Amino acid sequence: MGLIVAKFGGSSVADAASVLRVAKRIVDTKNSGNEVVVIVSAMGDTTDELLDLAREVSPNPPGRELDMLLTAGERISMAVLAMAISDLGYEARSYTGSQAGLITDSEHGKARIVDVTPGRIKEALSEGAIPIIAGFQGVARDTKDITTLGRGGSDLTAVAIAAALDADVCEIYTDVDGIFSADPRIAPKARQVPRITYDEMMELAAAGAKVLHLRCVEYAKRFDMPIHVRSSFSDKEGTFVIADLADQSKIEKLSKQGAVMEQPIIAGVAHDLGDAKITIVGVPDKPGTAAAIFQAVADAGINMDMIVQNVSAHGETATDVTFTAPRADAAKAEAALRSVQKEIGFKDIDTDENIAKISLVGAGMRSHPGVTATFFKAIASVGVNAEMISTSEIRISVVTRAQDANAAVAAVHTAFGLDADGEAVVYGGTGR
Ligand code: ADP
Ligand code: ASP
Ligand code: MG
Repeated sequence: MGLIVAKFGGSSVADAASVLRVAKRIVDTKNSGNEVVVIVSAMGDTTDELLDLAREVSPNPPGRELDMLLTAGERISMAVLAMAISDLGYEARSYTGSQAGLITDSEHGKARIVDVTPGRIKEALSEGAIPIIAGFQGVARDTKDITTLGRGGSDLTAVAIAAALDADVCEIYTDVDGIFSADPRIAPKARQVPRITYDEMMELAAAGAKVLHLRCVEYAKRFDMPIHVRSSFSDKEGTFVIADLADQSKIEKLSKQGAVMEQPIIAGVAHDLGDAKITIVGVPDKPGTAAAIFQAVADAGINMDMIVQNVSAHGETATDVTFTAPRADAAKAEAALRSVQKEIGFKDIDTDENIAKISLVGAGMRSHPGVTATFFKAIASVGVNAEMISTSEIRISVVTRAQDANAAVAAVHTAFGLDADGEAVVYGGTGR
C-alpha cells in the first residue's frame, strides 16, 4: 500500500509484554502490504530515571555526557523490539540516531536537525527488513558527539525520517486514542477530535499539550507530512494533523472519515504545569532597563513566554517586570539576573513555581467575537484568578495558581460546549 513511519512512545513499550504487543502490531502493518519504518522511545519512564541518576551523581552534568546517558534508553528499546520482531519470523534491524543519519548541530539537550541521510534505512527497506530507529537522538555534524533533540523528541525523529523517506504518513502511537479537546488525564470529558490543523496543534503543543512535540509539528507543516496520532492499545482511527481540514487529498487512503467543511471555533484547551513566574521587583522606569533584563535572560539561553510590566509597589519611578519561563530554568534565570542586579538597579527577584498556564486554542477565534469574554467568565465561575494574560491570533493564555488548573480547564471546556458524553480512555503511562 505505502510507506508508513510508525513511532511508539515510552508508554507503548513500557515493559516486555508491551514490546511483544507492539512487535505484533508492526508485523501486522507489514503484512497488510506496507513498508514500515519504526521509531521507538525509551521504555516507560526510563529517561526520567536516567535523569534522576545523573542528578544523584552530579548537580550539573556536562551536556555531552548527559546526552550519552539519556540516549542509552532508546538503545535498549530498539534492540529488544528488534528481537521481538525477529522471534515473529521477520527481520528487523535496529539503528541509533547516528546510524540512521540524524545529523544535528552540537547544542546538547536541544540539538536541531541539520540534515537527514537515511541511506542505511533505505538499504534495509530494499532488503525487506524492518528498520527500528532510536528516537530523540542524533550526531553532531561538527563534533561528531551524540546529541539529543529535547524531551519528547522522538516525535521529531519520526517526522524527520518520514519526510526524508517521503512516507505516506507518520503514525504516532501513544497511550490515548488521539488528540483530544483537553488532556484526557485531567479532563475525563475531553472529546477526541478527528482532524486538527498544523497551526492549531502547534499552538496546543506550545501551550503544554505534550501529546506531540512542538518542533515535530513545525517540521511536519514544513514538509506537509500528515501525522496520525493514535493508540497502540486499540485499533481505532486516531486524529490526523494536516494543513487544511477540508483537504482530503493527503489522507484519502488513510481515513474513513470525510472532510471537515467548516472549521470548528475551538480546537482545545491546554494546560502547562512546567513554568515558573519570575518577578523582578523595583525596576527603574527608564529606557534600556527592559532590554538589559531580557538580554541577561537570553544570554543564559532561557526562553521566556509571557511578559507583563506593572507599576511597582516601590514607588512611581519603578516598575515590576514579570515573565514566565520553564521551571527547570528558574534558578538559572535568577542567577543570571542577580549578576546584573547592581548594574540595572532593581530591588529584588521573586520566583513563584506554583503556577499553571491555561490556554484556549482555535482558528475560529479570529472570526468569532465573544470568545475571550466566555473564557474569562468560565474561569471566574469557578473562582479562578487570572494573574497574567497573553493572546495570539488563535490562542488565549492565562496564568493561574497551580492547584486551580484542573478546575479551570474543566470550566472552560464546558463553557465552549466541548464536553463529550462518555469518558476519555487513558490506556497507560504515568503522566510523568
Ligand atoms: P508518549 O509516551 O507516547 O510519547 P506522551 O506522554 O508524550 O506519550 O503523550 C501522550 C500524553 O499526552 C497523553 O497520555 C495525555 O496525558 C497527554 N495530552 C496532553 N494534552 C493532550 C491532548 N490534547 N490530547 C491527547 N493527549 C494529551
Ligand atoms: N525518551 C525521550 C523522553 O522521554 C524522548 C521521547 O520519549 O520522545 O523525553
Ligand atoms: Mg511524547
